[in-house]
Amino acid sequence: MISGKCECGGVAYRVDGEIHDYSHCHCSQCRRLHGAAFASFAGVVRDTFSYLPGKDRIASYASSSTHSRVFCPNCGSNIMVELTSEPNDLYIAMGTMDGELSLPAGYHIYVGSKASWHSITDDLLQFDTDPED
Ligand SMILES: [Zn+2]
Ligand SMILES: [Zn+2]
Repeated sequence: MISGKCECGGVAYRVDGEIHDYSHCHCSQCRRLHGAAFASFAGVVRDTFSYLPGKDRIASYASSSTHSRVFCPNCGSNIMVELTSEPNDLYIAMGTMDGELSLPAGYHIYVGSKASWHSITDDLLQFDTDPED
């Protein structure tokens, strides 16, 4: 079981399943939304995810017609992104996850939009945009 929460603890969740996708997104929207050089996401099957407290507290922002960003309106923590093209999956903001995680091979996406001040220093696969587009 994987657990996680936002910074203020108002939103918490559990995942009763595996992380089947692990990516670092360097797009400008993720950089702004996460206030970071890139955002790391764990793909999980939607049916394995459940909110503990907080489902009534979440807010969402449509960063595009296909991407909905779920966040805690109290502390601003990004919780996940939902994609209309992948209704059976959720992409959880990994910074909210607790403890040790078992992960598949990771990769970088939207490296073409990467922050000029950040250097990728690992050996993971890199894609200029999204390999699934
Ligand atoms: Zn919060
Ligand atoms: Zn992104």
